[in-house]
Amino acid sequence: MKRFAAFFSLASCTALAASAEELDWPALEREAVGMASRYFQLDTTNPPGNEMRGAEFFRSIFAKAGIESSVFESAPGRGNIFARLVGDGSRPSVVLMHHMDVVPADPRFWQEDPFSGKSVHGEIWGRGALDTKTSGVTHAMTLLALHRAGMVLGGDVVFLGVADEEAGGKFGAGYMVEEHFELFANAGVVLNEGGWIAADDAGVARFWGVETAQKTPYWLRLVATGEPGHGSMPLVDSAPNRLVAALARITAWETPIRVMPEVQGFFADTAALGPPDQRAALLDLAAALEDPDFAAAFTANARQNALVRNTLSLTSLSGSNKTNVIPPEASAELDVRLLPDQDPDEFLADLHAVIDDESIAIEKLLSFPPATSPTDHELFTVLREIAARRHPGVPVTTPLAVGFTDCHYFRERGIPCYGFVPIQVRESEVKQVHGNDERISIDNIESGTRITYEIVSQLAGAQALDPVSANVAKTEER
Ligand SMILES: [Zn+2]
Repeated sequence: MKRFAAFFSLASCTALAASAEELDWPALEREAVGMASRYFQLDTTNPPGNEMRGAEFFRSIFAKAGIESSVFESAPGRGNIFARLVGDGSRPSVVLMHHMDVVPADPRFWQEDPFSGKSVHGEIWGRGALDTKTSGVTHAMTLLALHRAGMVLGGDVVFLGVADEEAGGKFGAGYMVEEHFELFANAGVVLNEGGWIAADDAGVARFWGVETAQKTPYWLRLVATGEPGHGSMPLVDSAPNRLVAALARITAWETPIRVMPEVQGFFADTAALGPPDQRAALLDLAAALEDPDFAAAFTANARQNALVRNTLSLTSLSGSNKTNVIPPEASAELDVRLLPDQDPDEFLADLHAVIDDESIAIEKLLSFPPATSPTDHELFTVLREIAARRHPGVPVTTPLAVGFTDCHYFRERGIPCYGFVPIQVRESEVKQVHGNDERISIDNIESGTRITYEIVSQLAGAQALDPVSANVAKTEER
């Protein structure tokens, strides 16, 4: 058992490095780039998804390599794939999850066909390049590399490609957790999308961002009812009037500022990267926000504002479909996003108080229980070691996500899930996610593959078979 005892010791890192060196990395990197190009060519636009295309793509890759996989079709055409390298059980398993669906892409606004997978000036083009097909490639390559090198694993390494993330995950991660939870019985960690290596526009790494907590959606519909009538004779108490009055109170409501530990930590970790006049304040954001002037300036930025409070966006309104008819009902939808530790019922009580009109009904459209993942997981030890080697001085930190990913399905069941894909993304490239001209550099695919392999090897306690055991294995084969 000595090979597991010294997991983080220098000796074990050296053993790991030696075995990784035996792999033909230039060939593996070429393979990863080719795989990315072919994967980007599969149209898995959701809706309708057609993720079976992705599931079959990986099934065939794993089959050729001699790795067993299972495909689960949650609804016609909606594929999910699970493949596993089995460890000796001395460590929990590592689940590598990515979603195979992509959001729609309109070729009229792209410089290259969104499903061409074309290589242009050192970049591979395609919808999903950043969100999040490249991570599927780095995950698959990690299984292939570990398998080919004959590494002995402490924990299982699981590849999980899921459907439907872009529409909420009901047919993907939600389905897998609901219907096949036994597959994740030994899971110690799930690595998913949601964070990456943030770089400035010159391509210099600023921080490694690991998403451990995300705002939770709490989508609501407000319904006002009242006497209908003819538009020529206004009714003070009509449904639309009452609804609009309630919405006026809601939109004027300033929800309280609250700085979660993840947010406090993120701004402290990255303070040195902030504007010079704000650096001192960012080191202790909670204290700085007590100053109303600083708070006003900080929250004037929509993203920063969303990081420190529950937010409500009025997104949809409906009433009469005739100009001269006062309708009996009027409704509005609110995209509410709660801080990750917010009790939804408490928020709802506050909202009722703000609306101050008992006759307005509130329907819940979508709600997840609050869930975060711990920031002291051994993943952070592993990432800090790798980051220090690859990008000395660049912090590993925990930005709060304002959107949501499939991680909540696992977090709700007590399995730590982290958003981190080790690709370097410049600020100017972020808009390609769900935007036009999505693409990824070949350098990024290559280094992302290497770093993913390093992370997973360490988490799963991968060790090269030592010559003595190798000989024993050979003898047994005879
Ligand atoms: Zn995504």
